Amino acid sequence: MENKIHKVAVIGTGTLGTQIAILSACFDYEVSVFDTDERSFNSGIQKLRDSMKTAGKKSAFPTEDVDKVANTVTFCKELEEALRDADLVIEAVPEDLELKRQTFERIDALAPRDAILATNSSSLPISKIESATNRPEQCLNTHFYYPAIGHNMVDIMGGTKTTPEVIETARAWVRSLGLVPLTVKKEILGFCFNRVWRAIKREALYMWAEGFVDFRDIDRGWMIFTGTTWGPFGLMDRVGLDVVYDIEMVYYNESKDHKDHPPEALKAKVDQKELGVKTNKGFYTYPDPEYSKPDFIKG
Ligand code: NAD
Repeated sequence: MENKIHKVAVIGTGTLGTQIAILSACFDYEVSVFDTDERSFNSGIQKLRDSMKTAGKKSAFPTEDVDKVANTVTFCKELEEALRDADLVIEAVPEDLELKRQTFERIDALAPRDAILATNSSSLPISKIESATNRPEQCLNTHFYYPAIGHNMVDIMGGTKTTPEVIETARAWVRSLGLVPLTVKKEILGFCFNRVWRAIKREALYMWAEGFVDFRDIDRGWMIFTGTTWGPFGLMDRVGLDVVYDIEMVYYNESKDHKDHPPEALKAKVDQKELGVKTNKGFYTYPDPEYSKPDFIKG
């Protein structure tokens, strides 16, 4: 299918926004980015380099020269400038519904009328955001899974009015980045694989917080079973324990089921700023976590 996307604008250049921007630029899209914090793009690139180093050949990025690609991306000081002539806008600001709605409202007012507006939210369905715009038929979820570490798939999910053409255009764009689109046919919190990962994460956190098992043994089991270079706790450290906590709270707020509430022990880690890789301490200590040592898996 013909790719109708030529220019991509990424709003929010933290961990995921930077990866989406650089990956798009790797595949020759014109890319512009905007973030309220001007330093974020550079620190996002540093994180991307570190993740790519750890992932080695598994990373989705067809370049090792991230700086060269980053130089082709235009960092804009104004949102309006980043959105000019965009065919596709990816919002990757923090996981906060009100912030996302406000951001979508501003993007809708400034972006070209034909542009598709996508959120990279991990847990908020577009149906909760689309009404902030005058173009709900062009809004959707495109949920990336950390391409720098080889999670080369993207959940695609429409809202209440998204047209099949918009879904198809998004699928074609994802494929053009060398990633696999996983399409959700009927709206569900957590999309496709994210919901499967969430079930594993919730169970792993419960077993750790209630003292049933040492988290390292959960990771060992997972690494042996799947052949991955880290287990659920190593991955949560990479995602950021604050982000993990916020996402779990979205599930809890939706269901109000106490089994969905993240454990207090996780909240305590967040309060102590043990956020994972970004603060050098989470479940493991960085930059040389135990699980990257050859003997870790032997227990
Ligand atoms: P992050 O905190 O690393 O980055 C968010 C960025 O948004 C920051 O640089 C911040 O300065 C910027 N920002 C804040 N308000 C803004 C505004 N009004 N306009 C423009 N920029 C603004 O967050 P992240 O981990 O990259 O997550 C971003 C989104 O992607 C979230 O919705 C999250 O759920 C989703 N996501 C994250 C992961 C992950 O592993 N971290 C994976 C998949 C999806």
